[in-house]
Amino acid sequence: MSIITNGEAVSLNMPRVPAVRNRLRDNPVAGGKRVLLAAPRGYCAGVDRAVIAVEKALEHYGSPVYVRKQIVHNIHVVSTLEKQGAIFVDEVDEVPVGAHIVFSAHGVSPAVVAAAAARNLEAIDATCPLVTKVHREAVRFARDNFQILLIGHAGHEEVEGTMGHAPERTTLVNGPADVATLEVTDPDNLVWLSQTTLSVDETMETVRLLRERFPALHNPPSDDICYATQNRQVAIKKVAESAELVIVVGSANSSNTVRLVDVALENGAKTAYRVDYASEIQQEWLDGVATVGVTSGASVPEVLVQEVLDDLADAGYTDVRQVVTAEEDLMFSLPKELRTDVNGKDDARGLGGRTRQLDWQQK
Ligand code: SF4
Repeated sequence: MSIITNGEAVSLNMPRVPAVRNRLRDNPVAGGKRVLLAAPRGYCAGVDRAVIAVEKALEHYGSPVYVRKQIVHNIHVVSTLEKQGAIFVDEVDEVPVGAHIVFSAHGVSPAVVAAAAARNLEAIDATCPLVTKVHREAVRFARDNFQILLIGHAGHEEVEGTMGHAPERTTLVNGPADVATLEVTDPDNLVWLSQTTLSVDETMETVRLLRERFPALHNPPSDDICYATQNRQVAIKKVAESAELVIVVGSANSSNTVRLVDVALENGAKTAYRVDYASEIQQEWLDGVATVGVTSGASVPEVLVQEVLDDLADAGYTDVRQVVTAEEDLMFSLPKELRTDVNGKDDARGLGGRTRQLDWQQK
């Protein structure tokens, strides 16, 4: 297989899912077969930081380490960490008094922090710094007496955490369909914020409709939809222009993954499917398809994409071209409790994520 690439994604040190090879048939297609591989794809800086935080918490404190909610929305990552000794819980009252708990990348409300403290839990906050930025905006706008219109999906953990920072002053807007019936108390003191993992185009449409109804609506100081979500959507748009089929690797509860399916369909792909594992690819998806687009959500380790490429190669898609629309090198330092190794010495993972870890391991 030839992969044309400039800036290969980082492979993670996670076990591969046992592949069932040669399951797919290499049926002939007019014009030849190829894969367009979107880049950027897969792990973002916030996910990388959160997963390393759990791994390092296990190194530092031993098993079990408790994690509130899924550390990131990917079943492979969660099951891998479970095998290493992490225990995932829904709420802090399921955790033994005094134990270590990691808060997930999606963030928590102050009420959760208080509940953990009341149980004497040793809390490690793996909230993505870009989610924390939205929390701070919510607190500041609430303090300045704004009503916050939070564009996001009801029930998503990130939305619950952000709303919990200004519960009295936040109104949830699920999308464009909510705007017509929205009730506000003071139309001159409104600001919109958003979940970090939404469709950029749909969110802009929601904002346009909000501004039509409330012309004095204030904008947030900077984009809330994060760089990783935006970059992955731009890349799959480019791929979808030329792909009959798009395969998005990621879990069903991953907001940014599901958005990638939507964006692919809205931008030229005839069909688009989400899979957790390569084994879910169906033969009939490939019938008559010359060009397959492939991408992955921000919580997906590259090993799962490689499994998809291997299965597609079995089906004759051996010509793999990477479509690069941005380069990413952002890294976040770990929560302060985990920046050193177990002996208290500097640990490169603590200073900036897995890319740096690989550099460091090669020295
Ligand atoms: S998707 Fe964006 S907000 Fe979410 S963890 Fe990744 S970088 Fe942070």
